[in-house]
Amino acid sequence: MSRAFVYNGSPAHIVFGAGKSASVSEWVERLGCGRALVLSTPQQASDAQALSAELGKLSVGVFAGAVMHTPVEVTDRAMETVRQTKADCIVSLGGGSTTGLGKAIAYRTDLPQIVIATTYAGSEVTPILGQTENGRKTTVRDARILPEVVIYDATLTTGLPVGMSVTSGLNAMAHALEALYAQDRNPISTLMAIEGLRAFKTSLPAIIETPENITVRGEALYGAWLCGTVLGTVGMALHHKICHTLGGTFDTPHAETHAIMLPHTAAYNAVAVPGLLAPVAEIFGGPVGGGLHDFATAIGAPLSLRDLGLTQVDLDRAADLATENPYWNPRPIDRKSIRGLLQNAWEGRRPAH
Ligand code: NAD
Repeated sequence: MSRAFVYNGSPAHIVFGAGKSASVSEWVERLGCGRALVLSTPQQASDAQALSAELGKLSVGVFAGAVMHTPVEVTDRAMETVRQTKADCIVSLGGGSTTGLGKAIAYRTDLPQIVIATTYAGSEVTPILGQTENGRKTTVRDARILPEVVIYDATLTTGLPVGMSVTSGLNAMAHALEALYAQDRNPISTLMAIEGLRAFKTSLPAIIETPENITVRGEALYGAWLCGTVLGTVGMALHHKICHTLGGTFDTPHAETHAIMLPHTAAYNAVAVPGLLAPVAEIFGGPVGGGLHDFATAIGAPLSLRDLGLTQVDLDRAADLATENPYWNPRPIDRKSIRGLLQNAWEGRRPAH
């Protein structure tokens, strides 16, 4: 078999292991910095304060105002704090929302970022920033956006509620699924995607059984790193387009939307690229979409768009928007098929493929 591919590794330092968040001071210094601003959501403010206290004189304080979808007005407020405190690096403690704020600051200032990731969304290993302004979401990709250091410490994730762990894990799995058929995939991205899917197949049911177990939490973070890395290095297709459309237009919750759509987009594309998605059927049982639906059901994931409050009229509009600008997908896209796919996801049906 002849192969041809381009492989680009991402230049970040990945630090993995239970208790490794204790090395954050060391990383601030290794980056040549001494004035870290710690970021978090309001919900994780006390953890951020504790981290800031641990950093001692290396911290200039906490900005605990991060929210979903990185609104520009929140970034503007955080930038004010950056200027006032003369921060020389960012330490983001949290999931994609906090990481998004850190990236937005780095995009504007090129300050180095250390991310301590506490969900499985994968944003910490991508050079991609999605921001919202006046209700419109725009996405930028830039080298300044990729965090310099990522610390995965399972001890900080035992408090992630089981329901959020499940949807966050399925969100990460969607990155891996689309990496398997990405046009610019390479042997490493495929290996990482398959290993990431395996990590979640094992860890998500185990988290439901023992949410406090550091080993299974570590396995899920390992999956998050793998799936996030492929999101950052190869192109995404139908699944991500539909989820961005639903999130952007109807403000549906990010991880839940991914979780609900995953079996349906997988089934749609499995028809076109059965060989490339064969590892998914092997891991979760076949057919590809049916197996993923069974897995999602077994771990108590949300299954239907109806439960997110969407109506049939919303589905019409989503089908229009998702098919408006042609984009690459392994199976051609037309409005009728996408409307049908959305209907199945709305009803929470088990896909046939
Ligand atoms: P999130 O960051 O919004 O976190 C959800 C909630 O869980 C928050 O209140 C948070 O404080 C809390 N939380 C997080 N970790 C916790 C823990 N360990 N224990 C207790 N509570 C915890 O959720 P998310 O799904 O990680 O991120 C979603 C956002 O990330 C969206 O805005 C999405 O667009 C973005 N995202 C971006 C990329 C990218 O590459 N740019 C990739 C994935 C997601």
